[in-house]
Amino acid sequence: MTAVETTRSLIDYSLARRAVLAALFGGRATATDVCDAHPYLLRAAKFHGEPTSEQCPVCRKEPLMHVTYTYGDALGQYSGRIKATRELAQMEYEVSEFTVYVVEVCQSCGWNHLRQSFVLGHGGLARAGTQVAARRLTHSRERALSE
Ligand SMILES: [Zn+2]
Repeated sequence: MTAVETTRSLIDYSLARRAVLAALFGGRATATDVCDAHPYLLRAAKFHGEPTSEQCPVCRKEPLMHVTYTYGDALGQYSGRIKATRELAQMEYEVSEFTVYVVEVCQSCGWNHLRQSFVLGHGGLARAGTQVAARRLTHSRERALSE
């Protein structure tokens, strides 16, 4: 996995996710253990989530929703806000550095897991990189969907 200029510190949590699912399907964890989405997260998924075409790996009843959180000192009082993926490219123009966390949520059974995190922001880098970052996000999403 090669990081592009503006997408920094990309962390993919697929392995951890697979380990949790393996524990569940192997009987070492229960659905109650892993489908523990907080009511706030479920509400966030309902109102701000971005639907994916990937079925919930646990109940397979409905597609996963992605909820994208943004954190960073540079965001001030807006740190911790949920953003739509399309808003991130614009934020990159305006904010020097912030961290993005993409969480997948199933509104049916409450399965939730951190999908990936990465750092964005102009940070003194050329702004031409913004388009690359946006494409990168799209690619990540597509890859997640094709798994
Ligand atoms: Zn589910």
